[in-house]
Amino acid sequence: MKKQFAIIGLGNFGFYLATALFQKGHEILGIDINAKQVQEIRDQISRAVIADATDPQALKELELGKMDAVVICIGSILNNSILATLNVKDLGVKRVVAKAVSDPHGRILRKIGADEIYFPEKDLALTAAQRLDNPNVLDYLPFIEGYSIVQLAPPNSFIGKNLIELDLINRFGVQVIAIKEMVPENVIMIPTGRFVVKHSDILVILGPDAALAELQEEPE
Ligand code: ADP
Repeated sequence: MKKQFAIIGLGNFGFYLATALFQKGHEILGIDINAKQVQEIRDQISRAVIADATDPQALKELELGKMDAVVICIGSILNNSILATLNVKDLGVKRVVAKAVSDPHGRILRKIGADEIYFPEKDLALTAAQRLDNPNVLDYLPFIEGYSIVQLAPPNSFIGKNLIELDLINRFGVQVIAIKEMVPENVIMIPTGRFVVKHSDILVILGPDAALAELQEEPE
């Protein structure tokens, strides 16, 4: 499903995030205070504008309230990152995501109301360490063009049925590779066909992107 995202700060992280989301078919508004960054990305996303995100009025004019999420990708200037996040929160945006460069930075962003916080350097370092220590095939699967692994909250029509009855492999061409149970918290890898889906479960499913998109559109 096509979503609308605004990316504030088009440095390295913001640039790659904005262009990757655009390539996945979403509508992307890119915002940066620096004309050079805006010029560079202009042809690679839906719209790019020069604006200072520390200025509430400038952001108000961009109608960020209608976005599915706004991601603040300002790292190096702490003051600007904090003010931009505060301003975006004040606009009533439903999902505010912010990048942090350190743990204290992340704590501040959480205190002022960011819904999700990314620590790209820290997270990539941990992933790299894990990959170097113990290469795992799951790290490579997302790079197989056209296939993904997604997490799906089961639609109502799935509840109370087992995986044989749901027959997702024949109906959609996808495979349930794991189930995350929430009460109590537990992960079942490679569930058997007898597993009965509960409301509180999350299904982890591998399949072609088109089939996964179709499955995600299943009525609630
Ligand atoms: P990265 O490490 O991902 O390149 P930076 O923090 O270096 O991250 O880059 C942040 C980007 O945010 C830069 O392109 C900068 O011009 C932009 N930026 C900084 N302050 C503001 C602001 N007040 N409003 C909008 N964009 C900003």
